[in-house]
Amino acid sequence: MTDFSQGRTNVPMGGSQAPGAQTVSGSRGLEFAEPLIFEMHHEGRTGVDLPDVPVSDARLNGMRRQGPVGLPGLSEPQVVRHYTRLSQKNYGIDSGFYPLGSCTMKHNPRLGEKAARMAGLGDLHPLQPFSTVQGALELVDTLAHWIKTLCGMPAVAMSPAAGAHGELCGMMAIKAAIEDRGEAATRTRVLVPDSAHGTNPATAAACGFSVDSIPANDRGRVDVAALKAKLGPDVAGVMLTNPNTCGLFETEILDIADAVHAAGGYFYCDGANFNAIVGRVRPGDLGIDCMHLNLHKTFATPHGGGGPGAGPTVLSDALAPYAPVPYIVHDAKGLRLVERQADAGEGEKPFGRIKGFHGQMGVFIRALVYMMSHGAEGLLQSSTDAVLNANYLRARLGDVMSVPFDGICMHEVLFDDAFLHDTGVTTLDFAKAMIDEGFHPMTMYFPLVVHGALLMEPTESESKETLDGYVATLRALTERAKAGDVQFFKDAPRLTPRRRLDETTAARKPVLRWTPPVEDNA
Ligand SMILES: *Cc1c(COP(=O)(O)O)cnc(C)c1O
Repeated sequence: MTDFSQGRTNVPMGGSQAPGAQTVSGSRGLEFAEPLIFEMHHEGRTGVDLPDVPVSDARLNGMRRQGPVGLPGLSEPQVVRHYTRLSQKNYGIDSGFYPLGSCTMKHNPRLGEKAARMAGLGDLHPLQPFSTVQGALELVDTLAHWIKTLCGMPAVAMSPAAGAHGELCGMMAIKAAIEDRGEAATRTRVLVPDSAHGTNPATAAACGFSVDSIPANDRGRVDVAALKAKLGPDVAGVMLTNPNTCGLFETEILDIADAVHAAGGYFYCDGANFNAIVGRVRPGDLGIDCMHLNLHKTFATPHGGGGPGAGPTVLSDALAPYAPVPYIVHDAKGLRLVERQADAGEGEKPFGRIKGFHGQMGVFIRALVYMMSHGAEGLLQSSTDAVLNANYLRARLGDVMSVPFDGICMHEVLFDDAFLHDTGVTTLDFAKAMIDEGFHPMTMYFPLVVHGALLMEPTESESKETLDGYVATLRALTERAKAGDVQFFKDAPRLTPRRRLDETTAARKPVLRWTPPVEDNA
């Protein structure tokens, strides 16, 4: 029997499976131990019969391959099973509760999936003539209309491909506006709160601004006095997240907007948390100059594992002229895209282009389906339920876990590790024990403003039964930690295909290529 855990880069730390978990095959029930597809290779085995093709060396100009193609030889059922099992190893929102704070892992309605796969949409090519894609352009234009309406903003740039990319778009618009005012040399500083998502300071720095951080107060909000003290004629703008990364509404946001504007700066709001307020508050009414939306968070779209997303950026009257190309215009022939800066209309000064082609069509389709199938009332209901669910967790767990900031939270609830104090169990250990219980852990150690953060975002999708099961599990784990059962937590996870990975080595010395074992070469 081959032990496939040997010689692999991801062998469990401690080198063993859980006690009592050994089986003859190495599989555990439906959890299959399986070699890599290359290790299952048999020379000459194939799922298809292809006729021999007469190859003309003359036409290949001497480029004919000399060796084997290097693909694994497998039968069709082997391939089907391999990929089916791989898909089952993945934890996704379709397999269970996924309370990853800040990431908004909500249910992806099948209606959106169906629409995104319709032949007329799924098979579009970005270089098709405008006359053949009028429906697709109308879809993007309608989505833009919904976004502007929900945000109370006059303009939106649709092309950014993710939240961080939307930030870049917004900050480049700010930079262009400042250059236009002739203040590029003087307005070089951007204020960013301590609790900001890491992408905020990174974006400001990427645009050539220096970043100045603003502390949080003991209510988990921006310290407004500290912010005002840092404002001045060298400030290009402020980047703030509302609701912030502690899941709290920045109650002094109007005051902040006024102060930034009075100092001649622009107000960037990170709108990744729009799902907490959609239908209830319009960012435009809060004095915001630009804000990206994570369509892939607020309006569904499967986006685990890094893709795909869309980060349309809404712009105020002051920044609208600088919106990047491409953008949609209506004229006598219907809808078309303005693709080049030189073709911009009267008074428009696009800062350039930040993406090839026109935006993330698949995400646009899903977002519009989500909006239209919910309707205005439904969107308000979804943000209300998201906030209700987070506060339910807060109320049901707050007495045994520790909540750093008092009061009602928004769509996510933040705990710190004070409840684990003196137990020897860390936030990481606690999260690993949750995996054995079948729950994807919450976001850990972010935001940085509290110690050992545990940030949970249940979203509106989850039922009371799911939340109750989660609460019961976390309460039991908390009790176990406080009872001093440290080893239980240090050994977790026990029931996963791999246990604790050596993440440092994996990051420093990534093994990105499979190389055949030496004996196979003989
Ligand atoms: C997710 C998130 C981002 C970044 O969005 P991406 O789509 O991952 O680039 C930025 N800010 C906040 C607050 C977020 O939650």
